[in-house]
Amino acid sequence: MKQNKSQPKLKKTSRQVIEDGKVFKGIKNEETVHVRDKILSSVIDSMSDGLAVHELLYDKYGKAVDYILTEVNISFEKITGLKRDEIIGKPASEVYSVKKAPYLDIYSQVESSGDPATFETFFPPMKKYFSVSVFSPGKGKFATVFQDITERRIMEETLRESEKKYRELILHAPSGIYEVDFRTRMFTTVNDSMCLLTGYPREELLSMTAFEILDEAGRMAFQVRINKWLSGEKPDENVEYNVRAKDGHIICALLNVKFKTDKEGIPIGALVVAHDITERKKTVLALRESEDRFRTIAETIPALVCITRLEDSTVMFTNEYNNKAFGLKGEDIIGTIGPDYYCDPEDRLKMINLFSEKGFVDNYQLKVKKSDGSPFWIITSVRPIIYNNQPAIIGASIDITEYKKIEEELKKSEQLYRAIGESIDYGVWVCEPGGRNIYASESYLKLVGLTQEQCSSFGWGDSLHPDDADRTIAAWKECARTGGKWDIEHRFKGVDGKWHPILARGIPIRDEEGNITAWAGINLDIANLKLAEDRLMQTQEKLSVILENSNIGTWDWDLKSGEITIHEGARQILGIEPDKSVKTQEEFESLLHEEDIYHVQKAFNRTIEQGSPLDTIFRLKSDNRFISFKASLIKSNNKTPLLISGICFDVSDIKKSSEETLVKLSEELLRSNKELENFAYVASHDLQEPLRMVSSFTQLLAHHYKDKLDDRAQEYIYFAVDGAKRMYDLLNGLLAYSRIHTKGKAFIQVDVNRVMTNVIKNLALNINERGAVIKMDEMPVISADETQMIQLFQNLIANSIKFSPGFPKIYISSKLEEDQYIFSVKDEGIGIESQYFDKIFQIFQRLLPKEQYEGTGIGLAMCKRIIERHGGRIWVESEPGVGSTFYFTIPKNNEV
Ligand code: ADP
Repeated sequence: MKQNKSQPKLKKTSRQVIEDGKVFKGIKNEETVHVRDKILSSVIDSMSDGLAVHELLYDKYGKAVDYILTEVNISFEKITGLKRDEIIGKPASEVYSVKKAPYLDIYSQVESSGDPATFETFFPPMKKYFSVSVFSPGKGKFATVFQDITERRIMEETLRESEKKYRELILHAPSGIYEVDFRTRMFTTVNDSMCLLTGYPREELLSMTAFEILDEAGRMAFQVRINKWLSGEKPDENVEYNVRAKDGHIICALLNVKFKTDKEGIPIGALVVAHDITERKKTVLALRESEDRFRTIAETIPALVCITRLEDSTVMFTNEYNNKAFGLKGEDIIGTIGPDYYCDPEDRLKMINLFSEKGFVDNYQLKVKKSDGSPFWIITSVRPIIYNNQPAIIGASIDITEYKKIEEELKKSEQLYRAIGESIDYGVWVCEPGGRNIYASESYLKLVGLTQEQCSSFGWGDSLHPDDADRTIAAWKECARTGGKWDIEHRFKGVDGKWHPILARGIPIRDEEGNITAWAGINLDIANLKLAEDRLMQTQEKLSVILENSNIGTWDWDLKSGEITIHEGARQILGIEPDKSVKTQEEFESLLHEEDIYHVQKAFNRTIEQGSPLDTIFRLKSDNRFISFKASLIKSNNKTPLLISGICFDVSDIKKSSEETLVKLSEELLRSNKELENFAYVASHDLQEPLRMVSSFTQLLAHHYKDKLDDRAQEYIYFAVDGAKRMYDLLNGLLAYSRIHTKGKAFIQVDVNRVMTNVIKNLALNINERGAVIKMDEMPVISADETQMIQLFQNLIANSIKFSPGFPKIYISSKLEEDQYIFSVKDEGIGIESQYFDKIFQIFQRLLPKEQYEGTGIGLAMCKRIIERHGGRIWVESEPGVGSTFYFTIPKNNEV
């Protein structure tokens, strides 16, 4: 506001000031002035700025020295807190209690020059900032219009401070911070950390483009991001780049980018915070690697592995072994709490308690069940882990079902051995490696009247017989020291007051390293053994006396070592020279006549293989004397042949006399056989003629006197004819029987198939009548009398047909066994009771009345005789009502 120097003097009221001012230039009359005055006054009072009018005070030299406040508005009072009435007319130095009136120089300058001035100041008396405009309304006067700008100034100050701090912060922030101008791609600001991170000095960085610190891939990605921006898309604010440091090493950086745009929204640059995440990346990689490793281990380890979340027990991981063992599919249970696999809910509680007490569970054995309910045993350990960044529990288990079974078996076997121990009168015992007894059978303790405790504290030593005690205890100590076997006889006193002889036997039990872990043994009651031993001694003495006084020698053959021991008596019998060694089989066989070696070997083999007693006679090579060898086989508990123990004696004399007797007897037999045959022949042959006469004359009688004879006479004649016919048959049979030897033909090669053809032809009528079915195997060729073979088979088959009710079924077979053929004729007939198995082969022996089954009782006797002639045997096996099988043998090598 320009000062008008020609204006009248200001009056002392504000109204006057305004009235006198140039504000209302051109208003002329009093009334108008009064209205204006009112308006002005209210405008001034409604101003928010403070307004004060002052009058300068001068010294005698005309220098302004103070000023008096002449007028103020309402805002002045509000802003300064000064009351108008207290300050008007007072000099400023007094109002503000200062030596020199404030801003006097500025104000006097404005007054003198007439140029208004504006300034901002801190006004110490009020401790406030003001923005002040000064103008001079007239000579010696000035007015100030001012605002309280304290708040603004404080804000500005704070802003400045914070900006300073912010700058500092950026400069020294631990993360790299920089700004890039997209137009030039140059760094425009970089902080210390960025320099430190990249290894470039600030100046160098500021002379570079942002591209230069990126690797190839990074540059491309950067360009793509800018292009995205340009096309209006907003790229991610966070991005990872590989930054190349000055020395070439690569830093993995996570960049947080804030884009700066111009007014049109075009990106012109960015403020970037770069975090070095190389280490973190490495850790992540290492973590991933360790997780991979963990997975591989967990998948391949042959244990059941399962990880559950600690918080809610849901399954987070389960390996193949675990799935297989529980019969589950991994994908089905991941994320669920899985099936309840505890067989006993107690186990679950116990494990939870253990885990919460100790923070882990070690080697807990429990029974669990598969998804199909079948149980199995596991041993499990549980540990807390962090899995997928979450607190979890890992359980690793091993299936110990097999082990449990073994344990069970072991328990059973322990029970068993305890039971066995208890069942033995003198019991079993177990001692520690050092020799202290830890277990003795109840039976033993009862017998000696000791408790287990007493026995454990060496009480068993006190029960020993005084004569045995020292020896026994010394031997036991020696045993415990050397780890040898314990085998000692001693006596101990029972509660019955008697001395009990026992044989104590024990062995050390060793672990895999051979260390003794215990001793186990048995006390055998040898009272009876002792008795038997005494008796045996006596018997042995007697035996040796007998042997010495007889011509019997003894010998043994140890089958394990093959050593033969021929005792003295036997050596003499066998004529062995005193210094000759006969210990091996060859040495023994060298004593035998060559022709006898084979059958002696056979006899020995039979004894070893079949266990039958040995009984053989052989000739000595030296003097052809006959020696009899008799022996028994002795076997071990597991039935292995151990020893042949026997006697021998000279049987030359007996042999000679018995041979002579034999010759005599067989000569007699032959003679009697011959006589019998002759008699049979004569009887059957010569009796046939008179019998025929009886028969024919009786028939003539019947024919000629038919009308004269009454019924009874006719019946008598019938009986007589029938009797004669039967007699005739018998005689014929007998004749055939007697001729078997005398009229027998030489043996030739006979095809039994051909024999059978003939037999079937001969029996054709019979077979057809009865509707018999005959089956047979392929038959061999044997050396035999063919006619007799036909007789033999014909008799047997005819019997089978005869004694089979209904349609007979007959089966004929043969087999080669060793050196003979065994033939059989089997039927399904009435059978024979076993007590008649021998009787039926005797001549004229029949089991059933002739009215029921016709026959003479000669058939089987003839068969037997034929077979005997061929050097074979015949027998029957049968069951009444089921059928009979007749067997007979023919030697394979019958002399032709
Ligand atoms: P027979 O002339 O009576 O047949 P055998 O000597 O042939 O005389 O037989 C003697 C007896 O043996 C017969 O009477 C019969 O009781 C019995 N026997 C023989 N063969 C058989 C058979 N296959 N089944 C049942 N019994 C038989």
